[in-house]
Amino acid sequence: MIPFLDLRAVYLELKPEIDAAMARVADSGWYILGKEVAAFEEEFASYCGVKHCVGLGNGLEALELVLRAWDIGPGDEVIVPSSTYIATWLAATACGAKPVPVEPDIRTANLDPERVAQAITPRTKAIVPVHLYGQTSDMDPLMALGRRHGVKVLEDVAQAQGARYKGRRAGCLADAGAFSFFPSKNLGAMGDAGAVTTDDDRLADRLRTLRNYGSKVKYVNLETGVNSRLDEMQAAILRAKLPSLDTFNERRRALAARYLEKMRGIAGVELPYVPQWAEPIWHLFTVRCADRKRITDALDAAKIGWLIHYPIPPHLQEAYRGLGMKKGDFPLAERIAETTLSLPIGPHATLDQIDRVANVVRSAA
Ligand SMILES: *Cc1c(COP(=O)(O)O)cnc(C)c1O
Repeated sequence: MIPFLDLRAVYLELKPEIDAAMARVADSGWYILGKEVAAFEEEFASYCGVKHCVGLGNGLEALELVLRAWDIGPGDEVIVPSSTYIATWLAATACGAKPVPVEPDIRTANLDPERVAQAITPRTKAIVPVHLYGQTSDMDPLMALGRRHGVKVLEDVAQAQGARYKGRRAGCLADAGAFSFFPSKNLGAMGDAGAVTTDDDRLADRLRTLRNYGSKVKYVNLETGVNSRLDEMQAAILRAKLPSLDTFNERRRALAARYLEKMRGIAGVELPYVPQWAEPIWHLFTVRCADRKRITDALDAAKIGWLIHYPIPPHLQEAYRGLGMKKGDFPLAERIAETTLSLPIGPHATLDQIDRVANVVRSAA
């Protein structure tokens, strides 16, 4: 049996640090917005190379609160990838704006800057590139477009903690970066957690207000905020895990290199494409399969975990029926949904396991 991802192994390796962190919080008698959150914010900002990190409840709210803090709302358009996890779209709709999907560069599955240029209108207020599967989008042309049109750029970094673009970390590449620390992300909490990174003092200040009922001083409310606070327990766990993030990402890199070597030249299986400027952290190892069912059947028979990211693109979800989009509107997103397949990868997978998965895929294809 080869699990898709072994989260318990991560805990067991870091058990002394994580247990100590949890005990420290329990013993402190202080559980919301305290020393652990402040310390994590400082440590993670420094890791990403930005001035500010604001700890929040989860990744969706991190995306949504940045858009709200930029006063984006009804009548505004937010450019989002046609092929992404639905949270990116939900952040736009949650603040009343219209998600405007743009097709990817089919090689990387990330936003295509040339198509983004064509989608910008006078109503466009933000572009939200997603660093899908752990590899950054091509940020230089996207930032140039944002600057030229006076449009903000928000990175969705949920899948790319520690990834680099031309040597710089994801999360410092745009006006702001929204992170999720959902347990299965490369830096994951043991519950829900999220954060925003930015160099913008005003944005950071506004987010600190928004996350806490719109209040800076207890019982004085400046605006109608929300409750979206990173809690002390999750912050302490993230602090215990952050020092291992680069090591764990390095292990994933070695496993991905092995997959790329062992699966070269399999007919009907397209391997991930890594541009020369990208340093992905392999949140997922995804291939594209001409006959996916054949391969997943073989993986099932061999008791090997697999997942599909994602089987239904947002524009075909029932949730977005109201936008009036139909099958055929975003053919690249649809093609990715129909062919993509994620194979086991994680800091505790072994080269031997990767070889076995590769062999099963090769025999099935
Ligand atoms: C996980 C994820 C999110 C949402 O994060 P949550 O913490 O689960 O709300 C947003 N965008 C992408 C691309 C994700 O993978």
